Amino acid sequence: MWSVSAGRVLDAFLPTRCAGCGLPSSPFCAGCRSECEAPPECTEDGIWAIPDPEEHLRAALRAFKDHARFAVRGPLGSAWCRAARAAGAGVSDAVVLLVPSRTSSLARRGFDPVRALSRGVPVLPAAAAWVSRPMRDQRGLSAAQRQRNVRGGFSVDPVWVSGRSVILADDVATTGSTLGALASAVSEAGGRTVGMAALISVHRSQTR
Ligand SMILES: [Zn+2]
Repeated sequence: MWSVSAGRVLDAFLPTRCAGCGLPSSPFCAGCRSECEAPPECTEDGIWAIPDPEEHLRAALRAFKDHARFAVRGPLGSAWCRAARAAGAGVSDAVVLLVPSRTSSLARRGFDPVRALSRGVPVLPAAAAWVSRPMRDQRGLSAAQRQRNVRGGFSVDPVWVSGRSVILADDVATTGSTLGALASAVSEAGGRTVGMAALISVHRSQTR
């Protein structure tokens, strides 16, 4: 009891930095929140995502995924939902399928970040798709390596997608290779991919 109270007192005095821009302020500053409200745009790969020219949303997403900074979940989740809705605009009866997390990532984080952001849009359950063979973290890989890493790496249960229009969604879209591999698995399961979305798209030259 004493330690919790002491922790709260310490929190009140320690400087707080914004999870997006890093400036000393609130856990997620007004400027970065307003960047979340930008309208989604469609990339040349056909992925709807929120523009992130300053990479503030990318930093906030990393803080959420890797350091459980839950203060950013609401704004990032709203932005993600708008991108997913934009990908499904004009399509009736489409279902939304999330890129499945690797088991090792789930175990390390203790939660599925993309699923945690997707509140507000109905998505298929985690059992609908899974990683079917070991694959590396895509970060730091070249475009060709990314494609090889994920090709044939997903399986989709036909029960959820057969004969249906499907929107695929991820958190970060870089080369589109992950969403492309999932689209192949949807096709094998008898579904038809009609749209793709991510929270943010990363320009290829920013890949690292
Ligand atoms: Zn900020």
